[in-house]
Amino acid sequence: MADSKNFIEQIIDEELKEGGRVYGKKIHTRFPPEPNGYLHIGHAKALEIDFGTAEAYNGLCNLRMDDTNPTKEDEEYVEAIKEDIHWLGHDWDDRFFYASEYFEKMYEFAIELINKGLAYVCELTPDQMRDMRGDTKTPAVSPYRDRPIEESLDLFKRMRAGEFEDGKMTLRAKIDLASGNFNMRDPVIYRINHLPHHRTGTEWCIYPMYDFAHPIEDALEGITHSLCSLEFEAHRPLYDWVVNNISVECKPRQIEFARLGITHTVLSKRKLRAMIEAGIVSGWDDPRMPTLCGLRRRGYTPASIHNFSARNGVAKVNSVVDFAFLEYCLREDLNDHAQRAMAVLKPIKLIIDNYPEGQTEEFDVENNPKDENAGTRKVSFSRELWIEEEDFMEVPAPKYFRLFPGNEVRLKSAYVVKCVSCDHDAEGNVTAVHCTYDPDSRGGNTLDGRKIKSTIHWVDAKTAVDGEIRLYDRLFTTEQPDLADCNYLDFINPNSLEIIKGAKLEAFLADTKPSDRFQFLRTGYFCADSKDSTHDHLVFNRAVSLKDSYKPE
Ligand code: ATP
Ligand code: MG
Repeated sequence: MADSKNFIEQIIDEELKEGGRVYGKKIHTRFPPEPNGYLHIGHAKALEIDFGTAEAYNGLCNLRMDDTNPTKEDEEYVEAIKEDIHWLGHDWDDRFFYASEYFEKMYEFAIELINKGLAYVCELTPDQMRDMRGDTKTPAVSPYRDRPIEESLDLFKRMRAGEFEDGKMTLRAKIDLASGNFNMRDPVIYRINHLPHHRTGTEWCIYPMYDFAHPIEDALEGITHSLCSLEFEAHRPLYDWVVNNISVECKPRQIEFARLGITHTVLSKRKLRAMIEAGIVSGWDDPRMPTLCGLRRRGYTPASIHNFSARNGVAKVNSVVDFAFLEYCLREDLNDHAQRAMAVLKPIKLIIDNYPEGQTEEFDVENNPKDENAGTRKVSFSRELWIEEEDFMEVPAPKYFRLFPGNEVRLKSAYVVKCVSCDHDAEGNVTAVHCTYDPDSRGGNTLDGRKIKSTIHWVDAKTAVDGEIRLYDRLFTTEQPDLADCNYLDFINPNSLEIIKGAKLEAFLADTKPSDRFQFLRTGYFCADSKDSTHDHLVFNRAVSLKDSYKPE
């Protein structure tokens, strides 16, 4: 068991020992999304770590909206974030918070720092501050650093009162202008911003910076371990400085883990939003999006996402995982659990010339060969069937073993048929295929044991229902569209969505409910579209094809 623990759990184990930092305490983590967009698959990894670590230690995990930035947040996102986290099976009970609830407390801590001589009001403009930040050999400079405490207190209160415009002054922590870590060179901890906030309205016109706000939020909530992604590593000294210099009992510890990247997509809310605004996708829940709601609509299951996150592990070095691995995890789950069905995506008529007109019979077909409890269903069969256009070739290509004049194939679970001819329209296009069936091959096996190379799927034309099928491909044509020196929008795949109307589906699919998932024989795993599919207009998204391009090591 000890061997399988990740590095975060190893740290916690040490700290739980007698005399350790959290000896005798309940482990308490938090998930702190900024409500400026929908959660994506990268967040699923953070969720797995934040909630998963708490669960592993029988501890608690809070859900906190990190809404200290007034410009972007939106209540729509808050509800969507909650829904996605619940969908993945995590729960925060009554511990749901907004960082903005702590604005008053944060303000008091800022006053405390000023009183201790650990913060001052600086009147450098953003440009001046940049010019004076120094370099590795030269310290930063601020002419306001040694202004009297009383003066900073007065100015800071007047900043709050709205006396100054945006950018006129800031509150800076007084730490070390010569630090090798630039985050410690008297970082700005408050700025003026005359923008209304989605929760506090116009009550505030000064807002705390993330590096000051986050450790306070954690400390006030009694968080023991603040788990975050790697880009915050260089900010940890500042995190520690804040919790050590304000009067809070709880001294949380920040631990960083690697971010998850996936090929052929981007994982940044800002970039995803830009794609929506540009009309490249239909919204946050477009089934091509790497968002949790997009993946859900596409047909992904919570189990497939858990397995994906768990197998990627908790690392200290950022990595980019093949999108095909996510698909592999879904295929694995649906192979075990999805109901089987037959659906013909691009239909052509197959007429069995020697099958009595008006006759219908039924076959008992397994609902899921992987699950003996799944039972069977009746599939009807009659003289006219739908088959895939591509399962017939009037002039067969080399190594083509499906239907062509003179050749035999097995109709899945039904009979062996032999192609005899086909009909054409005036332009010479094939309009129907004719065959004869072998009445002694009921169930699909020949009496004389002759070998049948191919098995194809079919749907009874008498009972078939129509449906729309949406096939998806990668959103981007390149593995890493958001490498620093290129514009990711240049790599959009123009063929990432193919809509097929007039597919022919097995009759029972008419009763499909939104989000039901199926394996359509030979064509992939499909999910009824949660937005557009109705009894009268069935719409199925292909979640993933059957073909596996991913080979586990
Ligand atoms: P984005 O760039 O998509 O907006 P973010 O980090 O700004 O990402 P937040 O809402 O601030 O998004 O993230 C909430 C939590 O999820 C943070 O702890 C963050 O570290 C984590 N997180 C975000 N993206 C990833 C990712 N790709 N891999 C792992 N963790 C992530
Ligand atoms: Mg962010």
